[in-house]
Amino acid sequence: MNGFSGIIGNELIKEHMYKAIQEDKPYHAYILQGETGAGKKITAVAFAAGLQCTCDGERPCEYCVSCRQIKANCHTDVIWIEKEKSGYGVEEIRNQLNQAVSMKPYTSKYKIFLITEAETMTEAAQNALLKTIEEPPEYAVIILMTNNINNLLPTVRSRCMTLEFGPLTTAAIEEYLIKQHKIPDYLAKTSAMFAQGNLGKAIRYATAENFIQKKEKILQMLRKIQQMKVFNIITDLKTIIKNKEEASDAIDLMIIWYRDVLLFKATNDVNQILLSEEYLNILEDAKRLSYSKIEEILQGFEKAKIRLHANVNLEVAMELMLLNIKE
Ligand SMILES: [Zn+2]
Repeated sequence: MNGFSGIIGNELIKEHMYKAIQEDKPYHAYILQGETGAGKKITAVAFAAGLQCTCDGERPCEYCVSCRQIKANCHTDVIWIEKEKSGYGVEEIRNQLNQAVSMKPYTSKYKIFLITEAETMTEAAQNALLKTIEEPPEYAVIILMTNNINNLLPTVRSRCMTLEFGPLTTAAIEEYLIKQHKIPDYLAKTSAMFAQGNLGKAIRYATAENFIQKKEKILQMLRKIQQMKVFNIITDLKTIIKNKEEASDAIDLMIIWYRDVLLFKATNDVNQILLSEEYLNILEDAKRLSYSKIEEILQGFEKAKIRLHANVNLEVAMELMLLNIKE
């Protein structure tokens, strides 16, 4: 599968797209659903390239003018809809999609519209979009990418082909980091493990400054969290967490710890523990914490993420979460 060869995992999605390209029979509207970092964008671009590719053999060829223009992000018939800061309002959809779609493609077979973070479309914007996907012109292909399909109206969802991106295996991510990004073995292994199937996250971890040191700092905190004062923990965390993205990464790490605790409590099997070097501390937490407390802690992490997303002050969100962990 030329053109998709650099994209790992999600074989069924790639097969589906490959077939649509070779048979020249794409659907008019797609929803690519999957968490941020799951590979939706890179896959959508390869799909668009395949549909527009002018070569006779396997498409996308990566070498024809069309393929190169898509790679350079300057193809006139592959259009990224731009949003306002908070998302897509009805104007964005009307002006950039509904009007543009009525004009035939300039140079290619298709006119392809790409919408990232489609969950940020207002209801009015989605209703405007509906007008186009209800009766699209023959040449139109609209690709919505989202990490939360539930924010899309049922009327929109029912008119789209939904392709769901799943997590990748840790081994596949590790291999990818080593081969494609020349990441040293030990760092690739750790980054892949903590990314929990999310390639985007793994790349971010593997290429971040001081990922290993940051990880160590969080683990240190988790080991002695019951003895420390929340104020001191926050002061400590502030040295490694400067923004919401770093806070979210730290929360992901803490989630792995408490999932380990929960899993060990339920199975008594040390082999199930991801943070194998921490197993003695995990065992101790499993003994000390009740099932309901562990659930509460895990829910606290989800709440903290929602708060961060909703622009609650970083420190406040972290403080509430830490209080929830402490007994
Ligand atoms: Zn090509």
